[in-house]
Amino acid sequence: MSSITDISVLIVGGGPVGLTAAHAFTQLGIDFTLLERRDTIAEDVGASIVLWPHGMRIMAQLGLLDQLRSIGTDLLSGAYQGKSGKIFLQTSSPQLCKTNHGIYPQLFARADLISTLYNTLTASAQSKIHTSKTVTCISPLSPSGGGVKVLCSDNTSHTGTFILGADGIHSLVRKTILSLSPSPPTPPLKTRYSLLWFSLPRPSHPLLSTIPPTSAFEVHTKNLSLQLLANDKSNAQFCFIYRLLPPDRYKSSQRFTQSDIEAIISHPDVAALPIGESGLTVRDVWPLKAKHGITPLEEGVLSPEWHFKNQMVVVGDAAHKATPTAGQGLNMGLLDVVSLANQLSELVDSANSNKEVVLGGLEDAFKRYRAERIDSVQGDCKRSGMATRLACWRDWRFRLFDRLVMPIPGVDVLLVNKVNSPTMARCLVFKGIKVDREPFEGRVGWEEKMPLWKKGAHGDKRKNSADEST
Ligand SMILES: Cc1cc2nc3c(=O)[nH]c(=O)nc-3n(C[C@H](O)[C@H](O)[C@H](O)COP(=O)(O)OP(=O)(O)OC[C@H]3O[C@@H](n4cnc5c(N)ncnc54)[C@H](O)[C@@H]3O)c2cc1C
Repeated sequence: MSSITDISVLIVGGGPVGLTAAHAFTQLGIDFTLLERRDTIAEDVGASIVLWPHGMRIMAQLGLLDQLRSIGTDLLSGAYQGKSGKIFLQTSSPQLCKTNHGIYPQLFARADLISTLYNTLTASAQSKIHTSKTVTCISPLSPSGGGVKVLCSDNTSHTGTFILGADGIHSLVRKTILSLSPSPPTPPLKTRYSLLWFSLPRPSHPLLSTIPPTSAFEVHTKNLSLQLLANDKSNAQFCFIYRLLPPDRYKSSQRFTQSDIEAIISHPDVAALPIGESGLTVRDVWPLKAKHGITPLEEGVLSPEWHFKNQMVVVGDAAHKATPTAGQGLNMGLLDVVSLANQLSELVDSANSNKEVVLGGLEDAFKRYRAERIDSVQGDCKRSGMATRLACWRDWRFRLFDRLVMPIPGVDVLLVNKVNSPTMARCLVFKGIKVDREPFEGRVGWEEKMPLWKKGAHGDKRKNSADEST
């Protein structure tokens, strides 16, 4: 693999996808600078994140498995409840993940995941990450293409070969691509649901300790659903309340106030939602919350392109947004990083370190990246939207399916085996990162195998990277 020092990617956004790109570029010998608007990378914000076997496999290929296992919790079981708390389905999904792919879904506190992604970067990679840098303006270095410049709110400027927009749902990079694109602008993201979340310290109520930290609960009811997930490593439970918005609030730019939050929580239907099988309700536990937040749930895929010329390209939530019921958003972003990194390292290798050749091939590499990802992303967004509508009983058909069809023995297993597992098994791997062995194996084989070291061939490389790591 060649390494070219005069190509440098300007990553905008140090969320989980931007940090994963930093790991990948470090290992592939691609230089980068990462600009993040927050004051610290490892800010203690956000709720929880589930990584599914395919997401964990990507992390394992980046050498992060042990560190992530030390902060993650195996999700061993999942139950669907009615609004009275009665369980109508014990889902086989977590167990089938283990059987089919060799690992249970892993639950992380988002803050722990982000700080681990940062802390496991080498010292030299960390030195390329700059916080308190809000990118405010993007411009090409020359009109003919080749190089970009960004301005930050602290009046500094930074240049790079191209911009990788990992700047989330309100992405400036995406807005810039759309404003420059000659094609008709994409339809706005659709917003039909809001999500109010809060975390509960486990010891805050004796009855909360009765909920096993390895279990997930979902309450399904009309226009409303609740998910409860627990992470024993961070000793916290995370509660997510999905709610259908009134039509006059179908816009993604909306902001919610604290009084909106209080109004939602005190609505009798919300207040009475059960918290697992603890016998507690939202009304009981809301005063015990440690952190909380609310967000509109945008849905959609950037169209028609994810790039502009050879100057900028987007990954993660900046390119596509799914509702979080099925826990796919970050997993999708990780696959974007794999796909784009593969395209870049292939281009760099074939250009034999010639910068002009790389610049000439970048736009095609960006197109190939989107072409490789688009079907999978559209499928994931669609299934995620369906999962939210099923949990919130969008209409009588969803309700019938949820309460009458899903509990039929075998239906849940069939859906996992015929839809979810084959989708996960198609996951991409970094072609340029070798590992000792496949980290997880199950009944369903991975379509693409990881490149393996020949026995004894990697001793020196391991030693060098260990010397450099913090
Ligand atoms: C409540 C909730 C639960 C979820 N649960 C799951 C789950 O279980 N599993 C899953 O896979 N997904 C889940 N998701 C989705 C997941 O959180 C996102 O898909 C993921 O965070 C996207 O990562 P990202 O790095 O692309 O964007 P973000 O996480 O949004 O990060 C973007 C980063 O860019 C920075 N930034 C933005 N603009 C600028 C700028 N102009 N200049 C500099 N920096 C900038 C931001 O500060 C931020 O750090 C959940 C989402 C929510 C809301």
